[in-house]
Amino acid sequence: VNYSIGLDVGGTKISAALVQKDKILEKIKMPTESEKGRPYVLKKITEAVDSLLKNVDKAEVVGIGVGFPGLVDVKTGTILKAPNVPGWNNFSIQKFLESKFKLKTYLANDVRAMALGEKNYGAGKNYKNVICLTVGTGLGGAVIINNELYCGKGNAGEIGHIIIVDDGELCGCGNKGCLEAYVSSRGINRESKKVFGKVLPPLDIEDMARKGNAKAIRVYATLGRYLGVGIATLTSVLDPEVVIVGGGIAHAGKYLLGPAVEELKKRSINRPPKVVQAEFGKDAGVIGAAHLPIMGGLK
Ligand SMILES: [Zn+2]
Repeated sequence: VNYSIGLDVGGTKISAALVQKDKILEKIKMPTESEKGRPYVLKKITEAVDSLLKNVDKAEVVGIGVGFPGLVDVKTGTILKAPNVPGWNNFSIQKFLESKFKLKTYLANDVRAMALGEKNYGAGKNYKNVICLTVGTGLGGAVIINNELYCGKGNAGEIGHIIIVDDGELCGCGNKGCLEAYVSSRGINRESKKVFGKVLPPLDIEDMARKGNAKAIRVYATLGRYLGVGIATLTSVLDPEVVIVGGGIAHAGKYLLGPAVEELKKRSINRPPKVVQAEFGKDAGVIGAAHLPIMGGLK
């Protein structure tokens, strides 16, 4: 058994891929269009998987792994709560795909799936204790302890919601002062408004930073310092060897991570971990999802 199918479902995009270990043999990308309803999205997913399976002997496919943003029940493969993909709460995607394709199917939170990809094949492969963060619309996290993804009662790793400022900015979760309220697209938009007087797309700010624009560098540095505060807290609790940062906003690389490391060094009582960019970029989610059937899913 050689291959597996990975599905990375996001609020705006879905990637489906035929994967062999860390190699993507074929990938299909499509918009999620969750506003058109779950049956419509499921039909598109089904067609994509069908098309991927066309080119292989099905007996060689170990199963399907799905990464989905939100709270999930890994035992039943059920999406419990997905604020960014409306209409999927309490739906078992595992049951649906297993009955459609007769292949073992496993579900995990999308960032946990990405962490599996980075841990097994990417920036985390030489380490035992790894923290993964994705900075995009929100701030997702995953914790690997002694080579195993730590799930707690099922959903450990909600690092975006550790409080870094008492009574600070409002977070999407309803709380105030969460790390995610500062280090996310919401955070970068706020800083952009402060510094430029208007909201600029993160990629434009990144471009300007690369060209040496001091204001743009300052925007990323502010986010980076908050990120460093968060990582210092995590380091005190978990003392990992490496912290891997992915997601759209981490694309800015050193402009975000440089100030984060400086802040971390100032605040950490432990020897600080390495802070590195995710290796697989946009493909980490789908590669990690495809790893789920290989490991028999999360416990
Ligand atoms: Zn929050």
